[in-house]
Amino acid sequence: MGQRYLITGGAGFIGSHLAERLLARGDGVYALDDESTGSRNNIAALLEKPDFRFVPGSIMDEDKLGQLVGTCHFVVHLAAAVGVKYILENPLASIMTNVAGTERVLRYCARYEKPVFLASSSEVYGLQTRAPLKEDDFCVIGATSVSRWSYACSKALDEFMALAYHHKKAFPAVIGRLFNTVGPRQSAAYGMVLPRLADQAISGQPMTVYGDGSQTRTFTHVTDAVEAIIRLLDHPATWGQVYNVGGTEEISIRALAERIRTQAASQSEIRFIAYDQVYNHNFQDMPRRVPDIRKLRQATGFQPRIGLDAIIADVLADRRRQRRG
Ligand code: UDP
Repeated sequence: MGQRYLITGGAGFIGSHLAERLLARGDGVYALDDESTGSRNNIAALLEKPDFRFVPGSIMDEDKLGQLVGTCHFVVHLAAAVGVKYILENPLASIMTNVAGTERVLRYCARYEKPVFLASSSEVYGLQTRAPLKEDDFCVIGATSVSRWSYACSKALDEFMALAYHHKKAFPAVIGRLFNTVGPRQSAAYGMVLPRLADQAISGQPMTVYGDGSQTRTFTHVTDAVEAIIRLLDHPATWGQVYNVGGTEEISIRALAERIRTQAASQSEIRFIAYDQVYNHNFQDMPRRVPDIRKLRQATGFQPRIGLDAIIADVLADRRRQRRG
């Protein structure tokens, strides 16, 4: 076996893909997951592998966490509240996981001097309107009465903590700001647009586009995101730095819905839902979110390989498989 990695959130969408990839290259994986949004189904194919161990439990359990960090060579910290819908429905639990949970992970990584990848989010840019977004652009966070921004703030605080540890102890931490990451096994239950629109297109239901659909995003296939995470940890020159991790093809949500509908050969109607009808909350959206990934490319040679048509095809095939299963 090569190196042993602890993946917090290892039964989640990204965690399970990362585990597969690490095992395929000969590394060992401990996957810690409390199955709040992750699921054993995601790692069913890995459970019998000798170099894989699933550890049910929470990052809040310091004894378990400390023991695992102590026995691994690298830590990938993915355990976090996930999805706008989930965060709006569980604001307090999301803050606690993202702040208190991450504080514990970083504290043990610093104590045992284990290199850690911290999964942050493009959400930290908040309402910043620049495009493409660079790592040192200002984070423009909205009012505290809109609970979505608690997620942005909690991830920003995670970054501050990791950087503070790094500066104090030369602690090996690298931060990736993940932009919209999609692919097989991503749940539609937490609000993410691509699996939701794919399900709606397949089942002939109206495809729900929020606002007028002119807001834009880029989408990264999870295989590319996992490659970026591994490369960042493989390059010690990245430690103490923040990197955007995302795709380069900008698309409006309206155009995305049309493309999914065409690729699915679906007759679904595209239904526009006014923002004040979304989630029954005082919801705020970002009009545009596009990463500048030059810093990541320069440090690691990373370039996303899977384009949007292939991403949509892969998600549609996965959703169809799941419906049959
Ligand atoms: N969205 C949408 N319909 C949906 C779910 C999301 O139009 O059923 C929009 C959402 O308002 C946002 C974009 O799709 O503009 C991406 O949403 P998601 O929650 O996937 O990620 P975000 O980028 O907002 O974190």
